Amino acid sequence: MGYASGEQRAGGLHTRLYSRAFIVAEPDNSKRVVFVSADIGMVSQRVRLEVMNILESKYNGLYRQDNVILSGTHTHSGPGGYFQYTIFRLISGGFSREATDAIVNGIVKASVVRRCVGDATHDARKNAAKRTQKRCVLRHVRRFFCQKSDARKMQLVAFSWYPFNTDKQMVIMKMVDMNGREVGLVSWFAVHAVSMPVTNHLVSSDNMGHASYLFEQVKNTGSLPGEVTTCIATGPGDNVFDSTKIIGEQIFERAVELYNSSTKEMLDTVNSAHQWVDMSNVTVKINETHTATTCKPALGYSFGAGTIDGPGLINFTQGMTEGNPFWDGVRDFLFGVPSNETIECHEPKPILLNTGEVRRGIPWHPTIIDVQMITIGSLAILAVPGEFTTMSGRRLREAVKKELDPSGAKDIDVVVSGLSNVYTHYITTFEEYQGNISNISNLIIGVGDTMGLCDFKCQD
Ligand SMILES: [Zn+2]
Repeated sequence: MGYASGEQRAGGLHTRLYSRAFIVAEPDNSKRVVFVSADIGMVSQRVRLEVMNILESKYNGLYRQDNVILSGTHTHSGPGGYFQYTIFRLISGGFSREATDAIVNGIVKASVVRRCVGDATHDARKNAAKRTQKRCVLRHVRRFFCQKSDARKMQLVAFSWYPFNTDKQMVIMKMVDMNGREVGLVSWFAVHAVSMPVTNHLVSSDNMGHASYLFEQVKNTGSLPGEVTTCIATGPGDNVFDSTKIIGEQIFERAVELYNSSTKEMLDTVNSAHQWVDMSNVTVKINETHTATTCKPALGYSFGAGTIDGPGLINFTQGMTEGNPFWDGVRDFLFGVPSNETIECHEPKPILLNTGEVRRGIPWHPTIIDVQMITIGSLAILAVPGEFTTMSGRRLREAVKKELDPSGAKDIDVVVSGLSNVYTHYITTFEEYQGNISNISNLIIGVGDTMGLCDFKCQD
């Protein structure tokens, strides 16, 4: 899916989009987990259900909701048309059987069974910081500093917790087979892959896809089907292709370093868990005295403003705290007047589209979502929907780590695989939500989203 702009229509190919599947099983084959990384904007529930149907019938129950993760690398220059929820169908030109089939078949085809043991290493943070600090920037600095109520204190607190306002950590899982032969790797690095902007009309896997592509070229030369090497940007320059290349190269180089220096051997145990959560009705604890509930889905006014890398409609600006009579009228005509319950629940976000209150036709947004975790030895992979902000990702990781490994003795690594299984727009912290920036208006569930996903156990 692109930037939700009707003018951003595909007009060619910058890079092909690939799916890569990794299956890890215990030595006695009693348990297995599957992780699929696809070069798309996000995995839709429609894609997930279709893939699961095929896998379940083909492998007779070996692959299930709990042990298969489908995760998108995230690109805003990929195809749309593979969603069932109305809002995503509208913003990507309807439903496309061709696009959906291509994605579903690609993911299924990628699922080659291979029995492996794992070996992981996690980031030496200083090195990663040196490598990425200049290149990766935070889109919404103001929002990042909204982690505490007092502005000056906020900055100090944020930096005392974390030295950077972007997440420099990279974790890789290096895989070798039973005979010691290298099989592949999965790496997690928290970057919002948007080197390719809204003006781009070429299908592209953006910088994350480029990093994967580079690693494929080193370890698996010539094995990618349908390579379009002439479309890969070369040389230094000052354009979007170069930006994609530079960021992709840095991610790749760091992954190579970690791959070559990995020392932490993972135990050969795998486990998986999956849960359906009704995110329109979760009670979360804000602090010792306050609780809040998540809401029926609704998009805020700033949704119409788009983001820094993909500006939206005219008359909409980021951070809008009040509605507009004209658009309110359009909304009331199309969706009905938002209920007081929904308005209050989403405050301070002014509601543009109260999608959760549309009662006719196909639902506009998902409310019941997949939350999933697989563990491979000491690595916990959290498969969660939507796009996490830096801070919400950190908090989710910490909350889960605290549950799995309260004393730290197990030395567990936790990684967030966002854009997995179903899409729910953006996910922020409570404090960021008060800032009401575009991404937060895209947050459909309302206050306490991260906390809801953390099962009430996020730290303040
Ligand atoms: Zn995005």
